[in-house]
Amino acid sequence: MLGIPLSSIRAVRVLRRSLDARKAQTIGYRLRVEVIRDGESDPVVAPVAAPMWPQSIPCPRVVIVGSGPAGSWAALRLAEAGVPSTILERGKPVQPRRHDLAGVQRGRLDVDSNYCFGEGGAGTYSDGKLYTRTKDRGAVDGVLADLVRFGAPSDITVESRPHVGSNRLPKVLSELRTCLESRGVTYKFSSVFAGIVARDGRVRGVRTRDGEEVSADIVVLACGHSARDVYRWAADAGVAIERKGSAVGVRLEHPQPVINRIQYGKAATDERLPPAFYEVSAMGADRGVYSFCMCPGGFIVPAATESEGVVVNGMSLSRRDSPFANAAIVVALRPEDFGEPSHGVLAGIDFQRRIEQAAFGAGGGSFRAPAQRLVDFLARRPSTSLPATSYHPGVMAVALDEVLPPFVVASLRDGLAAIAARLRGFLHEEAMLVAAETRTSAPVRIVRDPATLESPSLAGLYPAGEGAGYAGGIVSAAIDGTRIAQAILARGR
Ligand SMILES: Cc1cc2nc3c(=O)[nH]c(=O)nc-3n(C[C@H](O)[C@H](O)[C@H](O)COP(=O)(O)OP(=O)(O)OC[C@H]3O[C@@H](n4cnc5c(N)ncnc54)[C@H](O)[C@@H]3O)c2cc1C
Repeated sequence: MLGIPLSSIRAVRVLRRSLDARKAQTIGYRLRVEVIRDGESDPVVAPVAAPMWPQSIPCPRVVIVGSGPAGSWAALRLAEAGVPSTILERGKPVQPRRHDLAGVQRGRLDVDSNYCFGEGGAGTYSDGKLYTRTKDRGAVDGVLADLVRFGAPSDITVESRPHVGSNRLPKVLSELRTCLESRGVTYKFSSVFAGIVARDGRVRGVRTRDGEEVSADIVVLACGHSARDVYRWAADAGVAIERKGSAVGVRLEHPQPVINRIQYGKAATDERLPPAFYEVSAMGADRGVYSFCMCPGGFIVPAATESEGVVVNGMSLSRRDSPFANAAIVVALRPEDFGEPSHGVLAGIDFQRRIEQAAFGAGGGSFRAPAQRLVDFLARRPSTSLPATSYHPGVMAVALDEVLPPFVVASLRDGLAAIAARLRGFLHEEAMLVAAETRTSAPVRIVRDPATLESPSLAGLYPAGEGAGYAGGIVSAAIDGTRIAQAILARGR
């Protein structure tokens, strides 16, 4: 639109927005934007139009699978341009979903309503950390501004590591739903996508697990990285899908005061300081080992979606006042780690599942997780006792060599030893590794055309967000949903 190649745009910031309703055919917003280009220090400031869907063209019927950030922001941007949609969500709304989370903490899992599935997606009862590696500052600011509009604290727009907390996120999501419903978006909860109805190579609708058919011209597949049934359907239906690298490992938990001492030194007891954060990486045997999703003052949570698999993740409340600090410590995986090409495109999911089931067996059931003290893991000896933990279903002392593949264990050991050698105090008697952290990102990518963002296999199918392999985190998934909405709106021009 501005004559700037898309690939050279690093960031876009909206400076001003006004509604132009002078002509019915071209009603829409006029924006003034600042565009920052790669290798150029001076931004370009220019006017652009953000039109509403033209009244002269029938609105497409859009079904969005998944109410996570990717699906919700696709719905939001479409609704803002006058295109309503239907959101199919396998899980429950935020309030009843809360009871299912309490259930899994006591060892009872609802496979459709849990820490990964339900209104708002995997991020709802997460930590609500909102920082991202995404370079497009304008897009990031746009998502943060939306969150503030729906009730998130305004300091997220100024903090370098913005954080909402899982006690506040559900309220924000309820406000988002109210806004979307007022603009014509329909939510169908406890409605599980089971396949697409297609004719002549085009999307015509979706089928649910209960046999209902919903007509659609466009389907946005924003179902997250744990929707293994959707990947199975895509592979069987001939939708273009490929293996993608991912990462697996453990959650490492320390008493928070230990991390405060490492990071703040003598100031560690200063109550004005927030619970300390860390970010670490090292080279393991022959691959990278790194921390992510660090939760100061947080909890390790059971993020399983299958009845015989243990998966751990982390979250925190807005006050971050639990006595524990946890972070994922994971080993980078390449697509070839999942096995021979003959093992198929979903081999990465089988790889994750084998680890999750080994962890379930080793933990002794009821989502108890296998765990080992860090000092014992590095000394290659079993733990005879375990320290206190924030993980409610409980932990069982197990040598993690019995749970994780040997090459993952070797890299974790080398990487953690290197990190412990650098950070005095990190190798603490009370530090514990809890397995298994397997759902770091999707081990597959649902292919899309780089220009239209549509699946090359099926016209009208738009893979979106983390599950499709185009995002990693709340903000980047919301940005990808925005991109998908823009691609759909471009059809009306
Ligand atoms: C415990 C936890 C803590 C996390 N903490 C953070 C954090 O602090 N910061 C951060 O940036 N990221 C965090 N993440 C990751 C973040 O939540 C995800 O990156 C993000 O939610 C991905 O967004 P998405 O919209 O692509 O997919 P998701 O959020 O996974 O949403 C997908 C939705 O699709 C639905 N769905 C799946 N299959 C079907 C089907 N067949 N039919 C209908 N609906 C379906 C699911 O129920 C889900 O609601 C955390 C994740 C977890 C589990």
